[in-house]
Order: sequence, then C-alpha cells, then structure tokens
Amino acid sequence: MSESILYVVSTPIGNLDDMTPRAIKVLNAVDVIAAEDTRHSRKLMSHFGIDTPMVPCHEHNEGYQSEQLLKRLAAGDSVALVSDAGTPLISDPGFVLVRKVREAGYKVVPVPGCCALIAALSVSGLATDRFYFEGFLPAKSSGRKKKLEALVSCTHTWAVYESTHRILDSLADFKEVLGAERYIVLAREMTKTFETVIAGTVEEVEQILLDDSNQCRGEFVVLVQGAPEEEKDEEVDQEARKWLELLITELPPKKAAAIVSEMTGYRKKQLYDVVLELKG
Ligand code: SAM
Repeated sequence: MSESILYVVSTPIGNLDDMTPRAIKVLNAVDVIAAEDTRHSRKLMSHFGIDTPMVPCHEHNEGYQSEQLLKRLAAGDSVALVSDAGTPLISDPGFVLVRKVREAGYKVVPVPGCCALIAALSVSGLATDRFYFEGFLPAKSSGRKKKLEALVSCTHTWAVYESTHRILDSLADFKEVLGAERYIVLAREMTKTFETVIAGTVEEVEQILLDDSNQCRGEFVVLVQGAPEEEKDEEVDQEARKWLELLITELPPKKAAAIVSEMTGYRKKQLYDVVLELKG
C-alpha cells in the first residue's frame, strides 16, 4: 500500500473480539507498523495473521522515530500507528508523530475502535453530555491531591486512568479532597473476564476494595460525578425575563419562577422578584 498515509489504529483493551475488520485490513496493507512495544504488539499481530514489519515508537524515541517515519511517508510508504492497547495518543504515545506528520502535510486517517475511557463512560450511568479527562493522576499523593483540588468543583463528569498499584492510595486522596460522599464509578478490567463496574460514594467504593483485594487487581477507569452547578446570582438576563413574561401568562408566579430556575440556573427567589416586577 503506497500512499503516504499515517493510519492511527485502535486495538482491543482486553477482548480480542473487539479488533475491527478494518484495523486488520489496514495493518495488513500498510508498509510498516509503528508500535509502542513491538514485542507486545507482535502477539496481537500473530493472532490475526498480520506479518507487516514493525518499528518501535514510544515515549523515549518518538522524536527520532517520527523523523524516520516522515522519510518513509516522503518515499510513498504508508504507516500504521498502534499502542499496547486501545486508542493511540490517549494516555499513550503518538502525539509527536501525528503532529509532525500533519505539519508535513501528509494525511492522517483514524481507524477507530476501543478506548477504555469511552467504554467506561458509556456504562457508568453518569452524565455524558460533557466530560473531562485528566489522564493519569500524579504518582505521589501530594501532587495527586493538588490535581484533585483543581478538579473538586468541576461540574462535568470527569475521569482518570488508574493502576492496580495506586488505586487504594488514590481513593484515600479522593476521600480527603472530594469528600467521602462524592459519587464515583469504578470501571475495572473492561472487556476482560473480571470486568466489574462498582458505583457508589467514594467511601462505599473504597470499602468494597478494602474488603476484597481481588477488586484492587487489574486496570481501572475512575469516573467522578461532577460537582453541583453553582446557582447564578448575577442579574437575570433578557432571555430568562422573556421566558418569565411568557410563562406568567399561563402559570402562577411561583411555578413560572421554578421552571425558569431549572432552565437557567438562576435562584427561584431571584426570578420570583422579577415576576413581581413584571407584574408591576
Ligand atoms: N490508549 C488506551 C485507551 O485507549 O484506553 C489507554 C492506555 S493507558 C497507558 C492504560 C490505562 O488505561 C490503564 O492503566 C487503565 O487505567 C486504562 N485501561 C486500559 N485498559 C483498560 C481496561 N480493560 N479496563 C479498565 N481500564 C483500562
């Protein structure tokens, strides 16, 4: 396949049945596969009968390897980027390569598939209309708490990746910074034999892990329910006033204020005062 394209190819996060037919097709067809760990990816490629040559592309050689791969693209070769699992660049190498390839004017094509963050989010039952991803929290408790303090009032659902070694220490810091009552969802070993999703307050989830060391094993996505939206206290804007004007023709003032409060985040009392003002 000679076409000077970099394909960014997602691979399974546990269950090999999640490998997409398109990923297999592309990995077979490209001239070279850039892999985070060639030994690790070789097993995956062998499973699917793919024998395309591989080169390593990881955090320690990505700058150098990107230059080498650019030369191959210039020569008309096509390249596929894979990481050990899931979607490259998502808490994985690849950013340097993709940036350089785009800057050089070559096409970068996604071959989407698994991503632990999205898999976890999709089953969490937490709001998904907006969310924030922090990647891995710092390894040391002091750095971790600092990050958590910055996230404590984030009103969107937010998520971090966590490892078996740190999950209990992290939960202890969650409890200290976010409070024991914050609602979280722990997605463990997604798509694998011991897939588990535990939801509850930080304290409840921590207790489940303390009571059963098996629940501390494997790979984790920790999802956190956002902090409640702060009620607005600034002056009621024109749009909210218009809604009130409209609703008070049909509803009692209190009901109209309550509905517009739900819609806009202004305090009910504040809106009720506007209703009285409108009614003269
Ligand atoms: N690029 C990957 C992706 O698309 O999800 C993430 C790579 S990152 C180096 C590895 C981390 O992702 C793990 O420590 C864990 O937090 C999360 N992870 C990967 N596979 C997972 C799985 N099957 N279940 C839960 N979390 C997983």
